[in-house]
Amino acid sequence: MKNFDVYPLFNIEPVKAQGSYLWDKNGVQYLDLYGGHAVISIGHSHPHYVQKISDQLNKIGFYSNSVLISLQEELADKLGKLCGHDDYQLFLCNSGAEANENALKLASFHNGKKKVISFKKGFHGRTSLAVAVTDNPSIVAPVNATENALILPWNDEQALENAFKKEEISAVIIEAMQGVGGVHVASESFLKKIRTLCDENNALYIADSVQDGYGRSGKFYAHDFAGVSADIYTMAKGMGNGFPIGGIAIAPHIKPKHGLLGTTFGGNHLACAAAIAVLDVIAQDRLIANAATMGDYLMKECKSIEGVKEVRGRGLMVGLELEIPCAGIRNALLEEHKIFTGSSSDKNTIRILPALNIGKSEIDQFLGAFKSVLSKALIS
Ligand code: PLP
Repeated sequence: MKNFDVYPLFNIEPVKAQGSYLWDKNGVQYLDLYGGHAVISIGHSHPHYVQKISDQLNKIGFYSNSVLISLQEELADKLGKLCGHDDYQLFLCNSGAEANENALKLASFHNGKKKVISFKKGFHGRTSLAVAVTDNPSIVAPVNATENALILPWNDEQALENAFKKEEISAVIIEAMQGVGGVHVASESFLKKIRTLCDENNALYIADSVQDGYGRSGKFYAHDFAGVSADIYTMAKGMGNGFPIGGIAIAPHIKPKHGLLGTTFGGNHLACAAAIAVLDVIAQDRLIANAATMGDYLMKECKSIEGVKEVRGRGLMVGLELEIPCAGIRNALLEEHKIFTGSSSDKNTIRILPALNIGKSEIDQFLGAFKSVLSKALIS
């Protein structure tokens, strides 16, 4: 059998990873500023993480959600304390799309309504409703298309008000910083408006924090910058530092019922051990503060580089919009300087999504290479 060929691949095979670096099978070292789609939060192969998962595997790796799994309680407790929403309830699943799918479904169960608002350039995953509210028709199969998905312009308060006047809205789902869309930051006033309209109309505010959450923005959730609380936060990516796990944090006013949501793998022992290790390291090593400091430094330096049109983002989720298409620049960074960066749906925007414990020397390594590659490209 062959693998289903849906991914364009770099001709590189990493076989070892440590911190912010990868090595291929020929021993070539790469600086990883992309973390495999923003997944690596505490750095590759962090010793505490490796230890926790190994220890757990030697005890019990999996049992389903039909028995007591106290690791789930430990995870919920640590997550609640670190994110500042100790009174929320945690439902565990396996990926970002699944987290969003469950959040949207839960909202509809909760208020009995159907319509969901999302935004232009937003990305919420590839499952049924998650893809329907994603602004990319090429990945929405005919069976996923639904009139329940209303995709509105970004940061447009008037359009939002009009939609609430016209339709019975179940939920608004929004990334505080659009990742795939090219790191576009929601205005604080827009997020506040969503909060108010949801409160006034018995709709739920779903904060898709799959990419910008877990400390990446310099706060636990990027939505925190607006000083509002969402009804449901969805998370994945950085949560397991590579071990597949997702979750939704649910406000106390939303009540559970047996059978309402469910999954076979979600919340298994190994996944919980991985996610607990991630939270331990984020807390002990103060990685949220490091994300803020390193992100400020990176963004400030990038603003003065010739050929950079705009620098967007917060913390260690940075979009560098260039005056020229970024594909050639990213290739040169990889081929000549062995640095991985990320693309986005904006053809001129590079995404930088490093591990939250990246240091200044690694950022300087990138800045030197970036300046050199960009200046060469601007001359030619
Ligand atoms: N939501 C956001 C904001 C994302 O960036 C992604 C993935 O890139 C998803 C949801 C989907 O996550 P997954 O690929 O784990 O299903």
